[in-house]
Amino acid sequence: MPLTDRILLGPGPSNPYPEATLGLAAPLLGHLDPEFIAVLERTCDRLRALWGTGNPLTLPLSGTGSLGMETAFANTVSAGDVVVVAVNGLFGERMCEVARRYGADVVRVDHEWGQPVDVRRVLDAHPSPRLVAVVHAETSTGVVSDVGALGRALRERSDDTLLLADCVTSLGGMPLELDAWKVDIAYSGTQKCLGVAPGLAPFTFSERAWERRVTTPPVWYADLGLLGAYVRGGPGGRAYHHTAPTAMIASLDAALARIEAEGPEAVAERHRAAGARLREGLVDMGLELFAAEGHRLAQLTSVLVPEGVDSAKVRMRLLDEYGLEIGAGVGRYAASVWRIGLMGHNARLDRAEVVLAALRRVLD
Ligand code: PLP
Repeated sequence: MPLTDRILLGPGPSNPYPEATLGLAAPLLGHLDPEFIAVLERTCDRLRALWGTGNPLTLPLSGTGSLGMETAFANTVSAGDVVVVAVNGLFGERMCEVARRYGADVVRVDHEWGQPVDVRRVLDAHPSPRLVAVVHAETSTGVVSDVGALGRALRERSDDTLLLADCVTSLGGMPLELDAWKVDIAYSGTQKCLGVAPGLAPFTFSERAWERRVTTPPVWYADLGLLGAYVRGGPGGRAYHHTAPTAMIASLDAALARIEAEGPEAVAERHRAAGARLREGLVDMGLELFAAEGHRLAQLTSVLVPEGVDSAKVRMRLLDEYGLEIGAGVGRYAASVWRIGLMGHNARLDRAEVVLAALRRVLD
C-alpha cells in the first residue's frame, strides 16, 4: 500500500478525523471482551444521541452503507408488500432495486435529478403502503429533502406505514431528529460526515418497526433478530452472530467522541460555513451550481462542468498535481457534473480554499 496522502474531497470517503485514525490503531480487543462490549454500548449510545432517537435497536452494522439499505428492506418487506420509493438520484434508484429483490411491489415516485423530494407527490403515490423510503441527503446530486415534513404527514395519515430514511451523507454533518421526524428505520455510512474510514453502517430500527418486522428475513447476515441478540444481549448473555469488526467500531467510537466534544451543533455549523464558502467561490469563478437553490447540501456540492472542459482530465490533474480528489457526476451527469465533498474532518474553510485554488489553476 503506497503511503500517498490525498485530500479526499469527493463524495466519500473523506479524510477521517485524527481521533478516528488513532482509534483504529489501538490494540485489538475480542468482540466478546467486556472492555470491547463497553465500547460497543457507548458507540450505540452516541449514535442514538446524534440521530435524535431513543430506539433500543441502534447499532453499527458490519458493512458499508449499502448493507444498511439491504438490512432495512430485508427486515421490513415481504413478497407483495407495497413500497413507495421517492427517487431523486442514484440512491433512490438503488432502493427500488433492493426492495424489488425482496419481492416488494415498488411504486416509484420519480423526480428530476437535482430537485428535492416532493412530499405531496410521495403521499399521493399510494394510500397505505407498508413502507415509504427516502434519501435524506442525495449524494449523487447534492440535494437535501425534508424528511421531517414527510414523516409527520405520513404518521398523521395512518399508523400503518413505516418510514425509512437513508442518512448515509447526512449523519454527522447536519442536525437529525429521527424520533421527532417519525422515521422508523435509518442507516448511514462511516466514510462521509462521520469522519471514519469506510466499513460500518450505523443503523437504527424503531419499536414500531420491530413489531412489524419480517421475523425470518431471507438474508441471514442481515437478520436483526440475530444481530440484536448480540448487540443487546438477553437472558442467556450475548449470542455470537458474526465476529464484530472491533477495530472499526473503536474508530467510530473515537470519531463520535470527537463530534460530541465539539458539539453536534458546532459540527453542523462548521459544515454549513465550509459549504457556503465553497459555493460562493465556485460562483465567483463563473461556475454554475447543479442542485436546486434552497435545497443544496453543505457537505456535498454539485457543480456543472463548463462547456468544452474535459471533466475527467480536470479530476486527474487535481489528483496528480495537487493530490486532491473530487468526484465525477453520476449516470447521465457523469461527464457534466463534478461533486465536491467537505465532510467530517474536511468540513473546514481551509479545505474549501484549497479546492477552489487548485480548481482555478487547472481551469486557467
Ligand atoms: N446511500 C447514499 C446516499 C450514499 O451516498 C451511498 C454511498 O455513497 C450509499 C447509500 C451506499 O453506501 P456504500 O457505498 O457505503 O455502500
